[in-house]
Amino acid sequence: MNLAYVRFRGGVHPPEHKEATEGRVVVRAPVPERIVVPMSQHLGAPNEPVVAKGDRVRRGEVVGSVEAMVSAPVHSPVDGQVAGVVEVPLAPGLRSRAVEIVPDAEQDLDSFVTLERSEDVKAVVRAAGIVGMGGAAFPSAVKLQPPQDMRISTVILNGCECEPFLTADHRLMLEQPERVVRGGRLIRDAVGASRVVIGVEDNKMDAVEALRAVAGDDVEVAALPTRYPQGAEKQLIWTLLGKEVPKGKLPAATGALVHNVGTAAAVADAVDRGKPLIERIVTVTGAVARPGNYLTLLGTPVSALIEAAGGLVEPVGRVVSGGPMTGFALGVLDVPVTKGTSGITVLRADQVPPEVYGDQPCIRCGRCAEACPIFLRPYAIGIFATGGDWSRAEEAHVLDCIECGCCAYACPTSRPLVQLLRRAKQAAMLKGAKQ
Ligand code: SF4
Ligand code: SF4
Repeated sequence: MNLAYVRFRGGVHPPEHKEATEGRVVVRAPVPERIVVPMSQHLGAPNEPVVAKGDRVRRGEVVGSVEAMVSAPVHSPVDGQVAGVVEVPLAPGLRSRAVEIVPDAEQDLDSFVTLERSEDVKAVVRAAGIVGMGGAAFPSAVKLQPPQDMRISTVILNGCECEPFLTADHRLMLEQPERVVRGGRLIRDAVGASRVVIGVEDNKMDAVEALRAVAGDDVEVAALPTRYPQGAEKQLIWTLLGKEVPKGKLPAATGALVHNVGTAAAVADAVDRGKPLIERIVTVTGAVARPGNYLTLLGTPVSALIEAAGGLVEPVGRVVSGGPMTGFALGVLDVPVTKGTSGITVLRADQVPPEVYGDQPCIRCGRCAEACPIFLRPYAIGIFATGGDWSRAEEAHVLDCIECGCCAYACPTSRPLVQLLRRAKQAAMLKGAKQ
């Protein structure tokens, strides 16, 4: 089927750096000595631990849950013994309670405690603890229940993987396209939509072909122009459907629902095999000895995963959870891999822009505004944020910022725009919460 695509405004084309891992078949990362399962691996209410020190747990068993609607339970990825409930740092700099587990020496990673069978896909997705695996980590079961006044007609699966360095979704689509397509159909039927489109950037034509080979007539596979941030929800809806998400509204207001391809595969696993979300593919790349794509048990420390990839290769400039555009620089390497961890990118010293402190001059070149896909004025919001003028930052629509990093990438004076915008967003949200 021929689709007419609408090019989104703004965006950038950073070097892709995907060559180190895009040809690497997914291999399993070793079981680490300790697994740390955070209670907060999603947006929404954190879980409460339901196990205690000394308990035996089995792979797939729930170790944390909560009744709150916007939440997702967490499960043990191994057979083992609970060492205790601890507090751990997470990649975005927050801390979370976590269940620490010492894995048994013998593990059967082909089996797990299966979910209760149910005809209700939304209930299965919730019980499996599935969240958006592209990085947003929003509980998927909540997304499957859009407001009653919003009818979903199209399910879009996001296989763009536009973030530089990362290839986990690429390998998934290439190696297991059936799981992705099956998940798309399940999501379509669960929300009563009539159409599924899988959007993939055209720098991954082998994945497009692999998906098309199994898609049948009822699932469309669209090869989209490679341009960052093509995989952002609003940009994807605009490109594929020519519809703009109204300001302050959910994407569902356009009749579209976007899920990541990894999320779709997890939905297929949950429904067809009763498998909870206990592992995921993580790209480990950059300055490591063996860059690759690793099937990783959730709760594996990043340090162990880097070891699995052969260790760091000097000189290391920065270790990022995710990719360089939207990822989080890690201060410590003992943070655990969580459901939203798509990659670990080790940047060399010469790939890291110089650290900018204080007020780097803005030369009013306007490049940040040209690059912004949301039509914002990042330079102005940056100046408001530097001066602590949160009201004016809010008036300049900082809350619409998707933190894509295009503005910072385009800025010739390396102003730390994303940090400034994040700070302004947090201040605006805090103000909203207090009102
Ligand atoms: S202001 Fe926000 S949305 Fe616009 S380019 Fe910068 S990070 Fe992206
Ligand atoms: S790109 Fe940088 S220097 Fe240019 S206007 Fe934006 S903030 Fe100022």
